[in-house]
Parts: sequence; C-alpha cells; structure tokens
Amino acid sequence: MANVEPAPAGDLESEPTGSLLHRTCPNCGTDNAGVPALEYSWQHWVLRECGSCEFVYLENPPDYADLAVAFAWERNHGDRSKRMKKEYPVSHAISRAWRKFYRAAVKKPDKLANRIKKWVAPGVVIDVGCGDADRLLVLPEHYECCGIEISDALAKAGEERLAKRNGRIINAPALEGLESFPTGKASGVLMRSFLEHEHQPVKLLEQASRVLQPGGVTIIKVPNFASINRRVMGSRWCGFRFPGHVNHFTPESLRAMVEDAGFTVVSFNALDRFFLSDNMWMVARKDG
Ligand SMILES: [Zn+2]
Repeated sequence: MANVEPAPAGDLESEPTGSLLHRTCPNCGTDNAGVPALEYSWQHWVLRECGSCEFVYLENPPDYADLAVAFAWERNHGDRSKRMKKEYPVSHAISRAWRKFYRAAVKKPDKLANRIKKWVAPGVVIDVGCGDADRLLVLPEHYECCGIEISDALAKAGEERLAKRNGRIINAPALEGLESFPTGKASGVLMRSFLEHEHQPVKLLEQASRVLQPGGVTIIKVPNFASINRRVMGSRWCGFRFPGHVNHFTPESLRAMVEDAGFTVVSFNALDRFFLSDNMWMVARKDG
C-alpha cells in the first residue's frame, strides 16, 4: 500500500470538534504509528494495517463524546454519499439509480429476522447500537427487548417507541451498556452493522459472551474488507465510512476475534461471507 498523507479537511459537515484518539491495533495491541498509512486514508482519517497481525483499522477516531453528538450515526452516515457525489459524480449517479431499481425490483430476505428465528431462544435480546429501536420493535412477543445506543437523540426516540412493549434502551457507549447487564442474562446479542464502529471490539465481544446465557448466541453483520468490491472499488467501496467505521474485518480476522472471545462459530458458511457481497454475517454461540 502507498504511503499517503491524509488530504486537508474538506467541507463536509462532520469535522472533528474535539481531540482525536490514538488507537493501537484493536486486535493485538501493536502500535503501528510507524507503519505507512493505507491509501484508503482520507482527509484527517488514517487507516493502518497492523504490522503484526494485518488487522485494518482507523487509528485516529474521534472520542466517544464526539461520537455521541457530532458524529452520531444519524448526522454522519450521509457523509459518504456527499463525498461520492463530489469526488465521483458519474459513478455516484449510476450507483444511486441502480440501487433504486434493485430495491423496487427485488424483495430481499430479512437476514437478521431469519437468523433470530433460527438461533435465538425466547428471552432477553440486546441490540447493540439499536438506533431508534426499529429492529427491536419487530421482534416476536416472546423476546424481551433491550437496546444500547450512544446517540442521545436516537436513544430517546427508541425509548419512546419501545415503551409500548416494555422494552428499554440504555443511552451509553456499547461497552458501558453491556457491562451494566448481569452475567448470563440474555439469549441473544445483536450486533448488526455495529462491530465495525466499536473502538474496543475484543472487549465488546468478551462482554457479549459474559451477558449471554450458555447456548445464547450473538448475531454479527460487518462489512467484508476481503470482498471483491473493495478491491475493485478501492476508495469508493461502501465499507469505507469516515470516521464511523473504525475496524475492517476479513472473514479470517472476524472468526479469530470472535473465537478468542470465547464463542463457537455456528453459522458462517460460504454464502454468509459471499465474496461478491460487501457484508458478511456470522452467528456465534456461547457454550455452557
Ligand atoms: Zn494487530
């Protein structure tokens, strides 16, 4: 990978207001400050590939205080679209038109709901990064809904929506939220499009394992850094979202981290990590 200095800040809305963190490798702890930045780095944001374990991560995300407000998902997730429109206007327009057509023409299976139905026993389900509780609201009645959400605005909205089915939302960073649950409390921990955002993914997985009862499962969806699309699209790949996505998993690195946290991977077949898909799905069980 080329050694590039991040370009000067542009005119996007989500400029850092506070200090940036310095992360060592979230997988093995190595400080890679001396390793050349990946060419996918952008503006302030420095992506590194760990010199020891090859894990790819954002070295300098904003701190949690900024994540709660200035970089909250509902304010920040549209930034990639603005960047693509500005830097690659033609492919951005084609991509938008294609997605619009595809959504109208193809009814996709609900991959999360299908996995919950198959793998999660009745009981407490904790949705990590639950947003405004849209996923929890549609769970069958035999699940008790709990969510963790760092964004103040989304947590408040979700709390109101969940009130009618006695669910609750903890307005906190994910790790702090999971730490507040008793050991062995949950039958399922959902991490759909979340682990790529977490500064401390190993600790989060360990906490997920702790709060699960024996036989309980975690369902994980993350972008697949090893996907063909990432290689073809380069910097335009949809998995690069700055500064929201701080970890970039491959099938191998995801499996290793999840197993190190004490889980047994029970569903992660070739279709779950299909090489043409931008994302991958895993179900992992806490054994008794
Ligand atoms: Zn490492």
